[in-house]
Amino acid sequence: MGDISTHFNRQEFACRCGCGFAVVDKKLNEVLEDIRDYFAMPLIINSACRCAGYNQKIGGAKGSQHVLGMAADISIMNIHPDRVADYVEEVHKECSTGRYNSFTHIDVRNVVAHWDERS
Ligand SMILES: [Zn+2]
Ligand SMILES: [Zn+2]
Repeated sequence: MGDISTHFNRQEFACRCGCGFAVVDKKLNEVLEDIRDYFAMPLIINSACRCAGYNQKIGGAKGSQHVLGMAADISIMNIHPDRVADYVEEVHKECSTGRYNSFTHIDVRNVVAHWDERS
């Protein structure tokens, strides 16, 4: 049992720079819970909340949804990132997705976008 929802703790969403920013969008949290239930495997949040300084430091997009606490880059144990993106696009049509080699970006911005950054 997590401290903000069934499977997640706020700390998992926290900005990795240590600034303490860890405000997670409720809708994003719900979608992640559904993904976690569907695949029934541990879901790892590689990066969720980012303060502006940290986002810039790691080369994140300007205006990134991560800065708003509305995005998460996730990977699921034993599940190919493509399958995660396919599932989200099929079931959570209101979510945006980004496909990367080792993780899936998911966000809950108002205007849906899908992109592919795999090499
Ligand atoms: Zn930070
Ligand atoms: Zn991302």
